[in-house]
Amino acid sequence: MTGTKGIDEAFRAHEVAHQYWGIGVDARSYHDAWLSEGMAEFWGWQVARRRLLEKDPPNGEKRYRDFLKDWRENIIENRRFLFGDGQEAAPIWLGHRTHSTETEGDYTLIIYKKGAWVLNMLETLWQLKETPGPDFEAFLGEFYRRHRGGRVTTEQFIAAAEAAYGDSLQWFFDQWVYGTDLPLYRLSGDIRNGGEGRFTVQLKIEGEGISPDFRMPLPVTVEFGDGSEKTEYLWIGSQPLETELGPYDTKPQKIRLNKYEKILCEVKD
Ligand SMILES: [Zn+2]
Repeated sequence: MTGTKGIDEAFRAHEVAHQYWGIGVDARSYHDAWLSEGMAEFWGWQVARRRLLEKDPPNGEKRYRDFLKDWRENIIENRRFLFGDGQEAAPIWLGHRTHSTETEGDYTLIIYKKGAWVLNMLETLWQLKETPGPDFEAFLGEFYRRHRGGRVTTEQFIAAAEAAYGDSLQWFFDQWVYGTDLPLYRLSGDIRNGGEGRFTVQLKIEGEGISPDFRMPLPVTVEFGDGSEKTEYLWIGSQPLETELGPYDTKPQKIRLNKYEKILCEVKD
């Protein structure tokens, strides 16, 4: 078994997925290309994930996350490289105009990979919503059936997502499709023993590289010595967040941000 196995499968699945996203439902203009390429890529990732889970049940999910992590790091590296040149990576919304001689490789990275990552994050939001409604896959299926044989815009996708999600998502798409922010979160934490086997975690998270209105739910996983863990989502904006987690009756060993590759961000401890 090799590390590239899932990647080969995802690549083939991307091409197969185009019969749905790209041919079945096409993008209206270059602005909407991510709905074809990002969607095909996201679909490919889900197929690769299923294969990895079938072939290697104990490690399949971890290998899938490693795969998300690779693309996340590539997107972040790309931003660094472009910052070095005094140039910012373009938003997904710019479509093929992200590709120029100075930004070679951007098209694939931004439209395919970041596009698919946006869908991965949208699925995360979906999992957190409290109001009942169609699950994420059901929503995508419904959107596909409604527009089969047609061409869709990003605005149509946003409107459909909001209707199914049951709340405004404009802020999310403003950040990730029309915007270029890639957050860096600095985490500092302190484990405190309150006595009588009650432990708490004092946590501080600071976001960098984000606009004043930028916000995301950030998964914080507390790992305990017995191998168990607990994940909580904390909403964080551009202001530092200070909070306390717990109390726990087992001593926490480690605090991890974004352990399961839910959010496109960089984390520094
Ligand atoms: Zn493609």
